[in-house]
Amino acid sequence: MTTVAKRSIPGTRQQEAAGTQDGQAPKLQVFTDRHLDKIEPLKRLGEEVLFEMKVVASVLPFRVNNYVIENLIDWDRAPDDPIFALTFPQRDMLDPEMYEQMAELHRREAPKEEITALAWKLRHQLNPHPAGQMEMNLPEVNGETVEGVQHKYRETALFFPSQGQTCHSYCTFCFRWAQFVGDKDLKIASKEAGQLLDYLAERPNLTDLLMTGGDPMVMKTKHLAPYLEGLLDERLEHVQTVRIGTKALSFWPYRFVTDKDADELLGLFERLVESGKHVAVMAHINHYQEMENPIFREAVRRIRATGAEIRTQSPLIKHINDSGEVWARMWREQVRLGMIPYYMFVERDTGAKYRFEVPLAEAHRIYRDAMKKVSGLARTARGPSMSAGPGKVEVQGVAEIFGEKVFVLRFVQGRNPDWVQRPFFAKYDEQATWLNELTPAFGEDKFFFEDEYEAMQADSGLKVIDAAEVEA
Ligand SMILES: *Cc1c(COP(=O)(O)O)cnc(C)c1O
Ligand code: SF4
Repeated sequence: MTTVAKRSIPGTRQQEAAGTQDGQAPKLQVFTDRHLDKIEPLKRLGEEVLFEMKVVASVLPFRVNNYVIENLIDWDRAPDDPIFALTFPQRDMLDPEMYEQMAELHRREAPKEEITALAWKLRHQLNPHPAGQMEMNLPEVNGETVEGVQHKYRETALFFPSQGQTCHSYCTFCFRWAQFVGDKDLKIASKEAGQLLDYLAERPNLTDLLMTGGDPMVMKTKHLAPYLEGLLDERLEHVQTVRIGTKALSFWPYRFVTDKDADELLGLFERLVESGKHVAVMAHINHYQEMENPIFREAVRRIRATGAEIRTQSPLIKHINDSGEVWARMWREQVRLGMIPYYMFVERDTGAKYRFEVPLAEAHRIYRDAMKKVSGLARTARGPSMSAGPGKVEVQGVAEIFGEKVFVLRFVQGRNPDWVQRPFFAKYDEQATWLNELTPAFGEDKFFFEDEYEAMQADSGLKVIDAAEVEA
């Protein structure tokens, strides 16, 4: 029987959340912006901080569960604790002007409609869909748009099951934040396994399915089953790899251990593995502090026992994990537990970027610093990588070539597969945080892919992918 290590939490019901010691499955309890007053340990941070949280939470989504509150956050270190920073709203997530506009409404206790109206106005200023996700990646089957599928790279389709468009807790820096604030237009979701499976069946080049969200692991196993079991069908033999992106491993590890349908879920993984497919749980883990509880380790052990792999990924985020030592310790611990570090992402140009962004030059220093501190087995993580419109672009290094200081860049994934692994160069810029802020080095006026990418945008939609498929 697993017991859960606890941190010091004044006045919360630790017993209930930690749960497992008396043999009972812990029950998920969720807190949102309406329940800020009910989170006991927040009280010690004072009225002013609580007010700031309310202001920010009326614009950006907030949701946290009992496991995170009671087991992951070190309240003695809040608000500087990394898991606190990862889940609780902070004033500087909005730029000062936006914050002030919203704070003013709260101070005079403005009517709810007025707050909602301003919230939408501000959200639209926060680049809710970076990297042209809405316009460019919507594929079709039998002349209809396939709901919930994004097919940007030849080998891999992303799928967003409609019931998985939420998470056990929300990350403050999340680039999917627009999906959580209830705007139907901004949701990319699906109702149907059938359409997805048809789409996959028609594409023999497609080897990977990546289920994502939100978090598909918030779904009951019986809702996941039609998708996962569907993949066992002969006509989907070419789909060799099933990845499931999730934060549940660290935010609700009970999903794989004590939840009622945990065993059934692991049984599904097992069947996929037995059928000859590679199953990878793509675990989103931002800090080693998420990996210290015995229940987390038990979840890892149980997933691996099915034959599924666990690969890990995280963005690099200021105030949460912006140090080489944090990454090195996290990667070492992952390798020790049998997980495989996969991606270090650059925080996207959306939402609360004011607070979280780290310049590319600094991101590369942190990546390198972490790499220097670990053995080869932990050097599997690619990065720092930007998921930009044309593809995933990695900052490989900084070099001086014929007297010009440059970033050495490469695509690790591209809308045109032919772009992948081709080195290219941008002028070094200490402040730049994203690809669109970089300019080509050596007096070139464009990066090598720009003309082609512009043509793709003009053409838009699935045709882009097909063109790439034919060329390759
Ligand atoms: C990252 C990503 C993938 C997967 O790319 P890999 O290089 O195989 O990890 C697929 N689709 C989209 C849209 C992505 O951003
Ligand atoms: S778990 Fe992923 S999708 Fe969910 S809030 Fe965090 S970053 Fe966003």
